[in-house]
Order: sequence, then structure tokens, then C-alpha cells
Amino acid sequence: MASAAAVVSLDPSGNLCSFFKQDQKPVGWAILGLGSYATTQILPNMRYCKLSKPVAFISGSPDKLKRYGDAFGISPEHRYSYDNMDAIKDNPEIEVVYVITPPGTHKDFTLRAARLGKHVCCEKPMANSVAECEEMIDACAKAGKQLQIGYRCHYEPYNLQATELCRKGEFGVLRSIQASMGFSAQPGIWRLNKKLGGGGSMYDIGIYGLQALRYLSGEEPSEVFATISNPPKDERFKEVEDTVHVVFKFPSGLTGSVACSYSWAGVNRYEVLGTKGRLVAENATGYYGFQFQIGSRSVTVQPGNMWASQMDHLSECIRTGAKTNRTPGEMGRQDIRIIHAIYESARTGRSVKLG
Ligand code: NAD
Repeated sequence: MASAAAVVSLDPSGNLCSFFKQDQKPVGWAILGLGSYATTQILPNMRYCKLSKPVAFISGSPDKLKRYGDAFGISPEHRYSYDNMDAIKDNPEIEVVYVITPPGTHKDFTLRAARLGKHVCCEKPMANSVAECEEMIDACAKAGKQLQIGYRCHYEPYNLQATELCRKGEFGVLRSIQASMGFSAQPGIWRLNKKLGGGGSMYDIGIYGLQALRYLSGEEPSEVFATISNPPKDERFKEVEDTVHVVFKFPSGLTGSVACSYSWAGVNRYEVLGTKGRLVAENATGYYGFQFQIGSRSVTVQPGNMWASQMDHLSECIRTGAKTNRTPGEMGRQDIRIIHAIYESARTGRSVKLG
């Protein structure tokens, strides 16, 4: 089966950054929040980093600090609680704090880390409101520190390849991009709590579809129209939304859609329709098992580790002083702005223009 040529530039071990000299000291990262994503994806994949190294943990749980500290070789004096984390100020080994807690906590932890003189990587979605995002951007800028959002798909080879192909006209003029994202949310999780989650399925997973529309097209939406539906009497959706359908208009004439839900059994796909061709991506923004098809051809890419590439990119920006992070706070703020316009549209029953 023929396959599209790889167009991303990766070094031999599959990572995007390769400028570091062998003897250069990796940037020290403190992982804040030892939940599922931190311990099952970020930390295991950090061993593929060339420029970044976990040097400290910050957690509210003494048990997790001991368990994961021992497992990942973090010495006891580099294990901090939320109460005593101000002490990281005096630990020069820590250069970055990676905030991996629920979105409703991102603003406070980011402001705190910046005040303590550290660069910040913050997980998606960036924060509960545009105003909070502004505060985070301002705090990091005032402290002279970098702020990256953990949008790992910008460092993932299949998504990079798809973006390149869309942008160079492989599918002709892009006319439509449709994304569907969903999983079945179990009761009791912070994702169903508005204060902690910021919103529901749109906030947590619809954001991957929104991101895909933005990076595949290279355009910003000019208008959104949305509907939200919650299953009647489903106790999970007292505070946040379940199913969202959004239509996006873009300045070029491209139309897009994102559908997302906490009631669907595992869907993660997008489809690009152009005047000359079509791309279908299954498990499009997942962790593994990407299946990208151009018509009947499978897309193949040079392997790469998106987590290592994401973290090394921030480390590279720190070492070189570059202010060109690919996934900066401003990108996170734009998503939050669009998502709140989506909520406004669903609430009012009207389309909302984005200036
Ligand atoms: P999780 O519930 O497994 O872990 C969250 C951690 O935050 C826990 O250790 C918890 O103790 C801690 N925490 C700190 N303050 C808290 C508070 N006030 N309330 C509740 N918990 C608090 O969640 P997760 O799936 O690891 O998600 C964490 C972040 O990572 C979220 O922003 C999520 O959107 C993001 N995430 C990103 C990806 C990705 O692919 N980029 C994947 C999963 C999660």
C-alpha cells in the first residue's frame, strides 16, 4: 500500500528538538499533581526527553509523593506538598513547574509558580475563563518566564503530517473539517464539577476537535453556532454539559464542526474534505493507534514521542531564550474564548461572531 511521505523533521530518536549538545544540562522539571495523566503518560514518557528531566514532585498526597518519588528516583528533599511548595524558590534545579491538576486549579498554581521564579507548562484546558487566562499570561510575562500549554498533538507526528498536507494543498481547497470526540464519563469525577472542570465535554475533550480545526486549517473561526443536550434525569449533568454540536465558519469559506459528548463510548476522529481529496483520521488525537487514511492510502510517519517533544520544546525555548513556543498561553486563551462563545450560542440559540 502506498503511503504519504513523512514531511516532519525529526531527529533519529523521533523527537523534534536536537540542538542540545551531549554535555548540556537538561532543564529540571517539577511535576505538580500526581494524578492519572502525570503518572501514566507524562512521567513514563519523560525518559525519552533529551533536554528535560523530572527533578521534583509537588502533590497534596504524602503517600503519592513517597510512592512515585521512589519509583521515579526523586530524592525526599525534592518532594513538596502544596503547603510548602514556596520552598521551590530556593531550589535552582527546578526551572519549570508542570501543572497537571484539574483546570479550575490551573490559574492559582500557575500564578504561584511564576511568582516563585519558575517557567510553567500548564495542562489543557488552560483555565475556567478568559480573565483567568489573561492573569496567567500576565503573571508569567511579568516574571520573565515562559508559559506553555500541554497541547501534545502539536508535537505528534500524524497530526503534524496531516497539518502539513492540509496546508500545502494536498486535498485542494479545504471545504469542511468535522471532528467527533467522546467517552463515557463515570459519576463522581472532577470533570463533572463545574468549578474544577471549568465546563463539560466541550471543555475536556471537544477542545481536541477545536484544536484540530485550528491547526489543520491554520485559520481562526469567525462565527460559531452550537446546541447542547443533556440526557433527562442524568445526575451526572447537574453542573456541566453532556453533548455539544458546534458549527464553525472560517473567513476563507471553510466550514467545520465539532461534536463531543460524555455519553459516547469512545470516539476520537476527524475528517477533512477538500476539493481534491479527503483525509480520515481515527483515534486522531489519542495516545496510540493512530489510523490516518488519504482515500484508500494509509499515512505513515517517522515515529516520534509527542510528550517528550512537547516538553523538550519548552526546555529548548528556555535554554535559547526563544519566545516562539508553538503552544503558548495565548493559544490556550483563544480556545477558552471560543468555547465560551460556544456556550453563549447554545444558551441564546443564536450564532456568535468572534471578532
Ligand atoms: P486526575 O484526577 O487523574 O489527576 C488530578 C490530580 O490533581 C490528582 O492527583 C489530584 O489529587 C490533584 N489535585 C490538585 N488539586 C486538586 C483539587 N483542588 N481538586 C482535585 N484534584 C486536585 O486527572 P488527570 O486526568 O490527570 O487530569 C489532570 C489535568 O491533565 C487536567 O487538566 C486534564 O485536562 C489534563 N489531561 C490532559 C491530557 C492530555 O492528553 N493532554 C490527558 C489527560 C488529562
